[in-house]
Amino acid sequence: MKKPAPVQLTVVTSVQVTPNMQRLVLKGEELANFPEDCEGSYIKFLFNQAGGTDLNLVEQGQRPVMRTYTIRRFSRAKCTIEVDFVRHLSNDLSSSFATRWAITAQMGDTINVAGPGSIKAINTQANWFLLVADMTALPALSAKIRQLPVTARGYAVIQVTSKSDIQPIEAPQNVQLIWLTQQESLATKVKSLAWLDGITSIWTACEFDAMRELRSYFQDDKQVDRQLIYISSYWKNGVTEDGHKVLKQQDAQQSQSLS
Ligand SMILES: Cc1cc2nc3c(=O)[nH]c(=O)nc-3n(C[C@H](O)[C@H](O)[C@H](O)COP(=O)(O)OP(=O)(O)OC[C@H]3O[C@@H](n4cnc5c(N)ncnc54)[C@H](O)[C@@H]3O)c2cc1C
Repeated sequence: MKKPAPVQLTVVTSVQVTPNMQRLVLKGEELANFPEDCEGSYIKFLFNQAGGTDLNLVEQGQRPVMRTYTIRRFSRAKCTIEVDFVRHLSNDLSSSFATRWAITAQMGDTINVAGPGSIKAINTQANWFLLVADMTALPALSAKIRQLPVTARGYAVIQVTSKSDIQPIEAPQNVQLIWLTQQESLATKVKSLAWLDGITSIWTACEFDAMRELRSYFQDDKQVDRQLIYISSYWKNGVTEDGHKVLKQQDAQQSQSLS
């Protein structure tokens, strides 16, 4: 199927919801064509090679620079999406295009967005659930956890930069929310949890190295069936999204060939 053309969205609001998270609401008539269930799906913000949003300045023979983010909330009635951007700025002006744009965005600014694309759904045919995220995947986790049955039980383990980055999320009553900061290791925290009885369904998204450690724990140590796991790296420390994409493809090939 042909991919839909990018759409131009306009910034409606931008709020620093916690010290390290910037929440933007973006509006555009074309959002009426997004599927109703797109919360938790990803979109790509498009930039020119200088980090600006004017795609007329994309260098000849080059494609726009793309940065991937999650639709945290969608309103078809208002034609808006809500996107949370982790505020992580490096001094290197040749990277962090998306973060820099989000932090400085003003009402009325426009940007081109491609997508949406959906990620693997949580398998709800399980006895308990384990959801794991760092701050980049908190928007996706907060959308996915709303899709669990109200009777769901298990854990949601979420790593934020600092304690003041903890934000309210809606979760089934028997899914325990466990917050930790960057001072602690996400993988170590997950491994310390009591493994519950019965079939588990896993949803995990975080930094590349943490993802690999957790994948090995789920698949090798706990022998969880791959059909019951969604696990993805959302970024890699020290590498821009373009470099991360290459490493992710290599990792997926290696992991397939080992299976
Ligand atoms: C499916 C999917 C959904 C995603 N959804 C979201 C989302 O909703 N919100 C969100 O904030 N991110 C999300 N991400 C992660 C986001 O795409 C990356 O963080 C991306 O690298 C940010 O682009 P940038 O232009 O700001 O930085 P880049 O130019 O890509 O990277 C510049 C430098 O910043 C570092 N860096 C990147 N991310 C972080 C971070 N979080 N903390 C510290 N250093 C970092 C890189 O390692 C690199 O050294 C998602 C990723 C995927 C694959």
